Amino acid sequence: MTNAAPLYIETRDSVLGEGMMIRRALPSRQRRMVGAWCFLDHFGPLDATTGRGLRVGPHPHIGLQTFTWPISGEILHRDSLGYEQVIRPGAVNLMTAGRGISHSEESPEQRSPILHGAQLWIALPDALRHMEPAFEHYPSVPTVNRDGFQITIMAGEALGERSPVRVHTPLVGLELLTTDAARSELPLRSSFEHALLVLEGALRVNGEVLAPGTLLFLPTGRDSLSIETSGPARTLLIGGEPFGEEILMWWNFVARTKEEVVQATRDWNAGKDYLGEVRGYGGARLVAPMPPWITDGAST
Ligand code: MN
Repeated sequence: MTNAAPLYIETRDSVLGEGMMIRRALPSRQRRMVGAWCFLDHFGPLDATTGRGLRVGPHPHIGLQTFTWPISGEILHRDSLGYEQVIRPGAVNLMTAGRGISHSEESPEQRSPILHGAQLWIALPDALRHMEPAFEHYPSVPTVNRDGFQITIMAGEALGERSPVRVHTPLVGLELLTTDAARSELPLRSSFEHALLVLEGALRVNGEVLAPGTLLFLPTGRDSLSIETSGPARTLLIGGEPFGEEILMWWNFVARTKEEVVQATRDWNAGKDYLGEVRGYGGARLVAPMPPWITDGAST
């Protein structure tokens, strides 16, 4: 028996890279995952002209895909496979860490005044989490107009459109955008759990107002959702089949056991080859912090 009540989860403020404040919606104490989505940061809107903008030095990932969705401004991605890609609104950067990769993210020299967007992680299922690393840039993903909403199918399938973004478990990622008052009934897959996070404006979901700073989680068993706005608004909707595997997340690693996390932490700090090397970033690589359950202070 599942608890069918929606959950309203406050995001928490956190710092990304060299001092950029972000709002973290996932993971949270109340909810670790939504389908395979295991991480959701809302960054900005912030002034990217003062200071150096976004700067996250080279750091590794394992066991996940990073999914970057800017809605204003640009981010320059560099990774250990040699990819160097500026991402702009409307495009998706998808990095599949698999057995190991590293990357840096920064505001490029030439940039728009406002940086605003979201970064999400998707956990890879056990059978695929040791796959070869990969990076894909999708210049555009499909959009559908419905009852005054411009709905972008960022990942998965909805409203007869399918995103080209290569994911490995049944999931969906949508952006719901309005410029004016609008109202619609959005079909959902009832085998999916879902969550909504407003990035701009406000959205009325099943009659309740949702604004930035709160993640609304909806358990499985719903086949539609009433959405309504009174003006410009932008919301992310993510969903997926309940993941069904216990994951262990620490720092930038998605694993299954503490031993794997400790190994990855030590391997990165020791410069092991499989986590790669990022070239061209004007700054230091990040140091992986030892997990809290390592109490002896050992770092080798
Ligand atoms: Mn990263």
